Amino acid sequence: MSGDKAVLRNDEGAPVQLGNDRFGKVGSPNYGGNKIYCGRNEKQCGKIRGSNGDCGPSGGPQCNSCSRLQAKLYNDEGVRVRLGNDKFGPPGSANYGGDKWYCGRSMFIPGTDGQCGPSGGNQCPSCTRFQKDPLGTMAMLQSKLSTAPSAPPPPQPPAAKPAAANAKLAAGAPIKATNGWSSFISYKQDDQNDGLVLLTMQQLPGGSESNWVDKFANDRSTEGMMAGVKAADVFIAVLSPKYFGSKFCCMELDHAIACKKKMCLCYNMSKHTVQSALNWVPDELKFLLKGEVLPLHEDVQFATACIQRITSAKILQVDCKAPPKPKHDGAYVKLMKEQASQSEDGVLQLTQKIKEALMIDAGKAMPIAIKEANDIMGLPNSGPLPAQVKELVKQLGL
Ligand SMILES: [Zn+2]
Ligand SMILES: [Zn+2]
Repeated sequence: MSGDKAVLRNDEGAPVQLGNDRFGKVGSPNYGGNKIYCGRNEKQCGKIRGSNGDCGPSGGPQCNSCSRLQAKLYNDEGVRVRLGNDKFGPPGSANYGGDKWYCGRSMFIPGTDGQCGPSGGNQCPSCTRFQKDPLGTMAMLQSKLSTAPSAPPPPQPPAAKPAAANAKLAAGAPIKATNGWSSFISYKQDDQNDGLVLLTMQQLPGGSESNWVDKFANDRSTEGMMAGVKAADVFIAVLSPKYFGSKFCCMELDHAIACKKKMCLCYNMSKHTVQSALNWVPDELKFLLKGEVLPLHEDVQFATACIQRITSAKILQVDCKAPPKPKHDGAYVKLMKEQASQSEDGVLQLTQKIKEALMIDAGKAMPIAIKEANDIMGLPNSGPLPAQVKELVKQLGL
C-alpha cells in the first residue's frame, strides 16, 4: 500500500490493518485475513477476551473498537457489506462465500440469481471493488463522512436491516417535493398491485399530497399524467407481469427517461421474486437495472422497512435516451483479426456482451472496455486481448 493513501482508523483513532492466515487457513475460525486489527496491547485498548493480550495483528479476537468497525463496513456505494458463508461450497471451492463481502442488494449481476450474495456467488461491482481493497474503501468513506472518531458510537443493534444501515449515509433523502410532486408512482392497474400501490403512497413522506398516483389525481388525462411525471422528483415504477405490456406504463416510463428523471424500480415481494421482476424488463431497457430493484410489501409490518429503503436509496439518475452505439477501435480490430482464432464479429459480439453484463459504457473502445472489465472481475490485463475476452466470458458465465 502506498504511503499517501488514506489510513483507516477505528473509533478510538487507532490505525487498523487486516490480519492474515498465520493462525488458520480461510474458513477456519482462526483465520484473520478478513478481520480488522489495530495491533494495540491490552493496556491501550482494554482487556480482550480470549486473546494473548494484543488486538491481532494476525488473527484472534479483536478489541472492542475494532469489533465495532468490523460490524459496520460499507462498500463505495454506501451499502453495508457482510461476509458470505459456506452454503454453496466448502472453503477453497469457487463457490465458497465465507471470504467474500456482499451487500445483499437485489440487482442484475451476471451469473447470479439477482442478488449480491448474501451467502455466495458473484458480487455486485461495488462489492467487487470493496473485496479488492476493503481498508482503502472504508478509509475513503471515513474521510468523506469526515466523522473524526472520538467517542465510541452507541452499541450497534444486532443484524441491523439494510435500511437502518443506510440511514446514516443517506442523510439527504432523495425524495422531497421540490417541483410539486415527490414521486410519480407508475404501475399497471388490475395487475395484482393496486392495494400495494395505495399502501406505498400512504407510507411515502407526504402521502397522497406529495406522491402522484392516478386514482388521486385531479387530471387523469394523458396530459395530466405527463405533467405529473415531469413535475415529480423521482419516478417510481412498480413492476408487474403486465407492466411493460401496458401502453400507459410505457408512455410514462418513456417520458420519465426523456425527462432524465431519477428512477426507482420496485416489485411486489409478497407475490413475486426479484428474479421474475428482472426478467420482465425487456432487453432494450435493461440499462435501467443499473440501479437496485427494491422490494415493496403488502403487509404494513414490512412495508415501512421497504419505504425506508426507497427514501434512503441511491436512486438511479437515468441519462440515456437510447443505448449508445458502440464505437470500435480500428487498429485494435485489425490486430485482433490477425490474432483471433474466431471471427472478428464473434469477438466483437462477445465484447459487447461483456460490456452489457458489467454495465460498461458501450461507447468505450474495446481495449479500454476489456481492461475495465478485467479490473471489475479482478483478472490480469496480460496476454492477447482475444484470450482475455474468452476468459471474461467464461468468468461471467455468458
Ligand atoms: Zn483493535
Ligand atoms: Zn454488493
